[in-house]
Amino acid sequence: MDPRKMRMETLAVHGGERRPGPEGSLVYPIYQGTVYSVEPGTDYHDIKYIRLNCTPTQSYVNDKLAAMEGAEAAVATASGMAAVTSALLTMLKKGDHLLAGECLYGGTHDFLTHHFDDLGLKYTFVDPQAPESWAKARLPETKLFLVETITNPLMRVPRLREVVAFARRERLTTLIDNTFASPVNFRPIAFGFDLAFHSATKYLNGHSDLVAGCVVGRRDLVDSVRKTLNHFGGSLDPHAAFLLARGMKTLALRVRAQNETATALARSLAANPRVAAVNYPGLESHPDHAHAREFLGGFGGMLSLRLRGGAEASERLLRSLTLPYVAPSLGGVETLITRPALTSHAGMSREDRERVGVTDDLLRVSCGIESREDLIEDFGRALAA
Ligand code: PLP
Repeated sequence: MDPRKMRMETLAVHGGERRPGPEGSLVYPIYQGTVYSVEPGTDYHDIKYIRLNCTPTQSYVNDKLAAMEGAEAAVATASGMAAVTSALLTMLKKGDHLLAGECLYGGTHDFLTHHFDDLGLKYTFVDPQAPESWAKARLPETKLFLVETITNPLMRVPRLREVVAFARRERLTTLIDNTFASPVNFRPIAFGFDLAFHSATKYLNGHSDLVAGCVVGRRDLVDSVRKTLNHFGGSLDPHAAFLLARGMKTLALRVRAQNETATALARSLAANPRVAAVNYPGLESHPDHAHAREFLGGFGGMLSLRLRGGAEASERLLRSLTLPYVAPSLGGVETLITRPALTSHAGMSREDRERVGVTDDLLRVSCGIESREDLIEDFGRALAA
């Protein structure tokens, strides 16, 4: 079957697979060799050497990632941060300027605020919900527009259609962090983005047992990113690549279950008198629900909430829950809960955090694949305690 016609469940199992596999294997093996013999005169970046991202298990996982995202090409990286830093430092040259949605993932935010200046790069944070404000922030040196599909931890969904249209008009390249949505809920390349990246540590792998990332998109752009990555040394080890491919085979099943669980939990929390606010784009009350429903296939497995009673009540809830682990990170099969002010956004000043809504009492939940009834019961009981 033509992979372009496959639905996500089929793509997850068959996309990018070598068929038949080596020795007829259904499971693509781990080629752990560091280096392979090459034809004399092979281009440096095409030498089969693990750091150059060209060994068989790496090429296989790259093809699988590209198939899942419906992109021409992909390159796996040693972490999500390796993906975003390599993509940014490929697309921007000294003197260039970046437009970035405000309230980015903390690590990405810290990379801009701590390193851009030293690298001779400039950035401006813009409100990704306010297209009318972007033209004012655009400079003659602006080259790139960076946004996230669903922002962390307030689950805002930027005006993605307008981002793509604005960038086309202004001749900017677009880059999107698709970690929170996963390709099951949103496929940025078909939507019009030039490049997308993931922390594959999260939904793509889905089992909280490896750190990885990837950049996907147009072949020429991905190839440039791979060359930058080759110089920076951020390749993904074949062992981890194997685990990532294994995790991806259940991506569609996991994410669809997580979408439904998050929707049910968000509704139950919103109806609880001890809860002051629930941030989930699938709720009709969410400020981005109307436009998000036009392009998201599902609203994701992440939500955040505030309690009546502030940070103390939040701490009490963390101690009373029995099923979710109190831990940062997200996208695995087990439900996690965390206070972003102390974890993902700890690098921001309190003032900056409060300005973008990451208050001290905010709790973020990553729904796993446990029974949604059990989770709702556990939250209900812990809130009543
Ligand atoms: N992007 C998002 C949205 C994230 O949540 C994270 C990590 O939490 C990253 C990027 C960075 O990924 P990694 O920890 O795999 O480097």
